[in-house]
Amino acid sequence: MRLITSIRAMRSWSEDQWRRKKSIALVPTMGALHEAHLRLVREGRKRADRVVVSIFVNPAQFAPGEDFAAYPRNFARDRKLLEAEGVDVVFHPSVAAMYPEGYQTHIDVARLSSYLCGLSRPGHFRGVCTVVAKLFHVVRPQFAVFGRKDYQQLQIVRRMVADLDFGIKIVSHPIVRERDGLALSSRNAYLGSEERKAALSLSRSLKMAAALARNGETRRAPFIETVQAEIARAPLARLDYVSLCHPVSLEEVETVRDGAVLALAVRIGKARLIDNAVIRA
Ligand code: AMP
Repeated sequence: MRLITSIRAMRSWSEDQWRRKKSIALVPTMGALHEAHLRLVREGRKRADRVVVSIFVNPAQFAPGEDFAAYPRNFARDRKLLEAEGVDVVFHPSVAAMYPEGYQTHIDVARLSSYLCGLSRPGHFRGVCTVVAKLFHVVRPQFAVFGRKDYQQLQIVRRMVADLDFGIKIVSHPIVRERDGLALSSRNAYLGSEERKAALSLSRSLKMAAALARNGETRRAPFIETVQAEIARAPLARLDYVSLCHPVSLEEVETVRDGAVLALAVRIGKARLIDNAVIRA
């Protein structure tokens, strides 16, 4: 496995693969890797001849006062995990390499970024799109793998790729959960034991909502109210938002008849956790 930190070296590795007609799958991450990241890697491996994993805690997607400085970092461990997965390249650029002095270009997928997490994290998706676009230009993959846990991010990246003709196939991977339902997240490391119990309210509320749909419910209010009530029952959890939205436009929907996504964000102690489920009538 090669460790590449410079943009020039990354580009030249990629050019070499293109010359040899070897396809590339990119898995963008912020490190602090867990099992879900490794599943994304395996998905990439299935699709392409070469797998590149980027590890970059992107300052542009953190607002002032968010957890950029505190975000867990453990590069030595990440590197071992990726080596064991047979990854070809770890791309680990510095902030200065990605955003050199004078940097001023950003990408804004305006409407999709204005809903859900975009409301409580202004500028977040602009930072995400900017870094993902840069990674796409530098790594030049044919495939890029994203998790459905960050559902809005996935839809925004798809939109950006279509709008800007990147010609990259975006592959999505289902949400990977602990046995008790908690969606894996690097930010789960922030949770104390009582907080972790409270964090189960996210997946529990989505399960209850899915059960409603199985019992024939299609109206918006019962889904929203179920999530609100379940989060309210967890003393340490504070609901940031709950949305029942269209799976692609992310606009709020009044019925789940044509398929919908129920998405929520919850604050528990220092952590802000997200989760979602596809609801089918
Ligand atoms: P992150 O390092 O948290 O920015 O995540 C990198 C990628 O892993 C993103 O595409 C995430 O959606 C994906 N990911 C993180 N956690 C999960 C999970 N529990 N299930 C599926 N994908 C995930």
